[in-house]
Amino acid sequence: MKDSMACFNQIGYIEEKRIDRFAVNIHFPCGVVTSDQLEFIAEVARQFGEGTVRITLKQGIEITGIPANELQAAHRELARGGLTIAPAGRYIDAIVSCCGAQNCCNGLMPTQPLADRILKKWQQVELPNRITIAIAGCPNACTAPLLADIGVIGVAMPEPRGMPRGHSPTERFECPEGAISYSNGEAVWKQDLCTYCGQCIDFCDLGGWKLAKKGFAVYLGGQLGRHPRLGTKAAEFLSEDETAALINRALDAYRQGANPGEKFADFIQKFGIEKLK
Ligand code: SF4
Ligand code: SF4
Repeated sequence: MKDSMACFNQIGYIEEKRIDRFAVNIHFPCGVVTSDQLEFIAEVARQFGEGTVRITLKQGIEITGIPANELQAAHRELARGGLTIAPAGRYIDAIVSCCGAQNCCNGLMPTQPLADRILKKWQQVELPNRITIAIAGCPNACTAPLLADIGVIGVAMPEPRGMPRGHSPTERFECPEGAISYSNGEAVWKQDLCTYCGQCIDFCDLGGWKLAKKGFAVYLGGQLGRHPRLGTKAAEFLSEDETAALINRALDAYRQGANPGEKFADFIQKFGIEKLK
């Protein structure tokens, strides 16, 4: 039974508390799902489950209550609709991502291309334990990236030259973090208070500061659960390519060096973030 459960996990069948009932989780990176997909999932849930789905915390849709003898047929039907069941167990559990610069007015970096890229490379790779990756398009960090095994945040650094203005030429810009003060008609930037939210930066010719640089900050080793822990910043202002490369190095090191069942957060503390830079 243990072997068949490992196999079921790899396929993505999740054993329910009720005997002989299973759920399958379809993961949608960035939580983006089309109306056609929703209709298709509803039909599969009616046909093979109990007509019920569960929205997961990690941007997936779980079809629940599927009897064991209907699993393969449900799986085939989902595949026919182009839907992939996310593996359960020791895999990337989910890439939770906000809509980022694609759709949010605060977004500094696009999130979906990075999420797609990581999933494509790692979704089917077995790891020592399950991993959660969270991507946020700006330091508001709506997806809680500091509490994920791997957290990614879009950041933008201003070039503090001249007077940053607000929404009119005469309005003085007030930094939400208090990182800009004004003295004798000069603006003073306190970098240690700056969260790189980019709000003072002139993205749309309103008269803010210019952009010095932007990119992703990467945090490693955060976790939720019984012993919550914040991730440690490994790097910042990385391009999408550099971010993907750092995540690949971290997952490769974890896959090759961790003991079976060892959590990523514990491994990375022991391994040392410095070696990944
Ligand atoms: S983290 Fe930033 S970009 Fe993402 S949804 Fe929140 S405010 Fe928008
Ligand atoms: S980037 Fe954000 S936190 Fe930093 S100075 Fe500008 S408004 Fe303030």
